[in-house]
Amino acid sequence: MAETFTFQAEIQQLLDILVHSLYTEREIFLRELLSNASDALNRVQFEMLTNRDIVDADAELAIEIKADEAAGTLTVSDTGIGMTHGELVNNLGVIARSGAKAFLQAVKETNSAAAQNMIGQFGVGFYSVFMVADRVRVVSRSYLPGEPAYAWESDGSSTYTIEPAERETRGTDIIIHLKPDAREFLSYWRLKEVIRRHSDYLAFPIYVGDDEEPANKQTAIWRQDPKEITPEQYNDFYKMLTLDLEPPLHRVHVRADVPLQFYALLYIPASPERSLLSLRKEPGLKLYARKVLIQEYNTDLLPDYLQFVQGVVDSEDLPLSISRESVQATRVMANLKKTLTGRVLTELKRLAQRSRDDYLKIYRQFGRFLKQGLVASPEDRAELEPLLFFHTTTSATPDDWYSLDEYLQHMAANQKDIYYILADDFHSARRSPHLDPFRQRGIEVLLLTDPVDTILLMGLTEYKGHTLRSVDEAGLDLSDIGQVIAEPAAQDRLPEDSLDSLIRRFRRVLGDRVRDVRPSSALTASPARLVSDEAGAARHRYRLSRLLDREYEMPVKILELNPRHPLMHNLCRMIGETPDSRLIDAVVEQVFETALLQDGLHPDPASMAERLTLLLQAATGTPAAELDYGPNASVSS
Ligand code: ADP
Repeated sequence: MAETFTFQAEIQQLLDILVHSLYTEREIFLRELLSNASDALNRVQFEMLTNRDIVDADAELAIEIKADEAAGTLTVSDTGIGMTHGELVNNLGVIARSGAKAFLQAVKETNSAAAQNMIGQFGVGFYSVFMVADRVRVVSRSYLPGEPAYAWESDGSSTYTIEPAERETRGTDIIIHLKPDAREFLSYWRLKEVIRRHSDYLAFPIYVGDDEEPANKQTAIWRQDPKEITPEQYNDFYKMLTLDLEPPLHRVHVRADVPLQFYALLYIPASPERSLLSLRKEPGLKLYARKVLIQEYNTDLLPDYLQFVQGVVDSEDLPLSISRESVQATRVMANLKKTLTGRVLTELKRLAQRSRDDYLKIYRQFGRFLKQGLVASPEDRAELEPLLFFHTTTSATPDDWYSLDEYLQHMAANQKDIYYILADDFHSARRSPHLDPFRQRGIEVLLLTDPVDTILLMGLTEYKGHTLRSVDEAGLDLSDIGQVIAEPAAQDRLPEDSLDSLIRRFRRVLGDRVRDVRPSSALTASPARLVSDEAGAARHRYRLSRLLDREYEMPVKILELNPRHPLMHNLCRMIGETPDSRLIDAVVEQVFETALLQDGLHPDPASMAERLTLLLQAATGTPAAELDYGPNASVSS
């Protein structure tokens, strides 16, 4: 008696699309079925290492494809792990693949025709067979002794059935009743072509028809001599492994004999975002022990900050009897991790030195991981430091990057410290008033505009004995460094008593929104800036909290005024002539908020619009007494 089950709603949606799909590259269904068969073979191979009691322990680990012209069926069989009754329900009735979910999401968000054209990129798994099938029957027998065989069957509508079946041996048959317009897949020639294109490197033999020779090469590419592998082959393997559409940015192929014997083929993807569409659902490397897949996603072979690396590691030294859980604890693993980490970092360093453009492509995508690594894995610091590149005040465009060593080479006479400015982006960094005195003396400043730079500063407090210092440190004295290359504008400095009354007015208007108001000896072109005397990481607490999406309090800083700036001269004159004018207060507010804005600290820049309009009215001739300051002309802190 057949039992009838209803598919999970998401699968029904997926099936509806696949059954009616006009997708032209339907051949990828075979890639998906072969990949499932290969997984099933891997899993039974692994069980054999630890478990003696297995149905058909001697069966060849292989995949077989047979076509039946008369019946119009194609059958894909494997001697893999098989499925019990419960597993048929759970595995083929409920959606597993992240790719399938991402696909459904894309269908929802874009128009479905466009999404249909991308089926192949999402890797929708088993269900893709309904692009070519009217009906599918899965006959499976588990590797567990005593489990009977069952047949799962569906026509791709909302239900499927399960009934007892005959299957003498362990494994799974997928019997595909081809749609009339999909009969091309009865041709062995066509099938072999598809296998070569998508599944050539699959580790188990795929026999097509009565051929005794497998249709796939089955070579473990990572065990081959790099000299014999073409760039296309490397990229094809990457694509097969990850389903990433973009070719990788770089690869490292390692074959080592001493002290450990292992093979590794590692790739740096084109971007960190590839994961959504990737076949690989989690970070981690594929770990083989003597060609047997031990772990699909191993995250113990590389430090956290290198988890963006994709690839395969195959060790001759891992004991085959090892269980998935205990892999991590072995000494071999610790040694492998050390060696692999070293190889990846050395390769990056070599690139950074010899082919900077290629390196920077990687750095733009993954630099933030390396920066976090420097903080999280201080033991790798010496290897990571040469991999850091920054924009500086010397950069003409955002394409000009400099290493820390290059910064040291550019240092001005008598310069001991490394100066940096934290900002939200390249352009606002370069416009910052904090750079006035550095520009004046020809001192280079690092422009730290990556959000992760706030974290980097927690680990990178000095480099080769040079302390990193923020340009907005209160009391920074540059007078001995370099030489003045640009004289400040020849405006007179305000007399002391005018300056005093100006500062008093600022203090009164701004209250506890500033820690203090002082004259500046550093500013040249800008009227004001905010500085802070907080030390170390505390200084960047605000940015860090913002980065981590935590609640934060606005930092209270010291406001420095430029006693030579025409605006300060004008204000002084107004204070002398019309001390009660509220226009003075509006200007004071705006000077303060402009400084906040320039430091990327303004919580609500749009709130300045009202006051700016008022100031524009004043500038265009409305007498101060007639201006409507409104109830909120003074912005709250
Ligand atoms: P995924 O392979 O990503 O898990 P699929 O939809 O392709 O998603 O397959 C769902 C599940 O069905 C698999 O995880 C596996 O447990 C099971 N399965 C599919 N094909 C086979 C097979 N040939 N042998 C054993 N189990 C299989």
